[in-house]
Amino acid sequence: METIHRETFWLISPGYVVLLYSFAAISLGVFGFGFYRRFRLWQSGQKEKVSWHDVKANLRYFLDMAARQKKIKRDKLFGLMHRFVSYGFVVLFIGTCLVFIDYDLGIPILRGYFYLVYEAVLDVFGLLFIAGLVIAMSVRAGKRRTRLRHTVMDQAFLWLLAVIGLGGYVLEGIRISLSQSSYAIWSPVGYALSRLFAGNPLFAAESYPIWWMSHAVFSLLLLAIIPYTKLFHFLTAPIHILFQPVKRTGKISLPYHLDEQSPDEWSNPAKARGVHKISDFTNWQLLGTDACTECGRCDSQCPAHLSGKPLSPRSIVTKIRDHMQPNCEIGSFIQPAELQSCTTCGACVEACPVSINHIDLILAMRRGLIQNMVMETEAESTLLKLEEQYNIWGKPWSERADWSKDLQIPRLDTEDEKQKQGA
Ligand code: SF4
Ligand code: SF4
Repeated sequence: METIHRETFWLISPGYVVLLYSFAAISLGVFGFGFYRRFRLWQSGQKEKVSWHDVKANLRYFLDMAARQKKIKRDKLFGLMHRFVSYGFVVLFIGTCLVFIDYDLGIPILRGYFYLVYEAVLDVFGLLFIAGLVIAMSVRAGKRRTRLRHTVMDQAFLWLLAVIGLGGYVLEGIRISLSQSSYAIWSPVGYALSRLFAGNPLFAAESYPIWWMSHAVFSLLLLAIIPYTKLFHFLTAPIHILFQPVKRTGKISLPYHLDEQSPDEWSNPAKARGVHKISDFTNWQLLGTDACTECGRCDSQCPAHLSGKPLSPRSIVTKIRDHMQPNCEIGSFIQPAELQSCTTCGACVEACPVSINHIDLILAMRRGLIQNMVMETEAESTLLKLEEQYNIWGKPWSERADWSKDLQIPRLDTEDEKQKQGA
């Protein structure tokens, strides 16, 4: 009986194998350097510890947002696309890791029925992966989501992923058509392709190594560019969702609690320090900006943005990401008017699928503005009136209550009223 197992370098000459490992080493090196570079930049921020007081809630949040993709699902078609692509990508990646364990580590796991199930599962998820990419390409080509930015690079990333997915099927189809293995039906897509390829010189044994090498080069190219492009969110988004303490909409992080400060600390301005430069953000805030997928959900919900104010929460996040150098001054790439336009309504935080807290970013930078004495004229004069006259109109004390004269509102400081209130 035919032995059921995976033949890893079938029809591949030793020269090609050496080339593959050389490319793999370069690609891993480029990936590692890119990752380390960003990691150092995150580390340049203020240290913010992960809060583990509610591990269960964090895990539940991760399952809902990263695994079940609850927020992404709100857009039905795009939600379907994203689940197809991400689940397909993860399963194909696990499949590649199993090949590494089987061949490179010499632990024979891809054998017998396990191997057959492995083939079937990868075939199905590969198909979902490609279906998801087709949906994404057609939505982007038709510009059917105004919230999306339609750049050439976005299309290029989709094509690169599609070429890798299709390349895997071509290799499988050629392998099955030439080897005529008795268990080929466990790879239904590869099996169907093998029937199409039979007798076609483009998919003959001589062409196989070229197909194989090009598939490997595209896959390694993808690995190398991940930390340098928005594809980095493949890694950073799940990390951010899992480790960033669960943010509930409407809850704003405070820089400090006044009632927990000693009188000496009240006059210590360091406690209330706002963000002036990139390294004033926390390490998790910086990592979070690398998790941004540029999906535009925050912009599409932001009342300030929609009413024509000079604020785009997506741009706030991507500008911080793109200017991430420890000493880069915020004022060199974000205008005060952008920060002052935010109403702190929280719609962006609620919409963001990767748990970015725009309000915390914006308020921290606003605190920086106030320390630099940059404030909207109207807000500044209102605060001054409050400070000096205890009312927002700046009226003298004797006229403070004039507005209530004809409204028959009881005065709490009269004797009658005090008695009524039981004072
Ligand atoms: S919190 Fe600010 S940035 Fe976010 S949606 Fe509301 S106004 Fe826009
Ligand atoms: S900040 Fe969040 S919602 Fe806004 S574009 Fe980035 S990932 Fe999308």
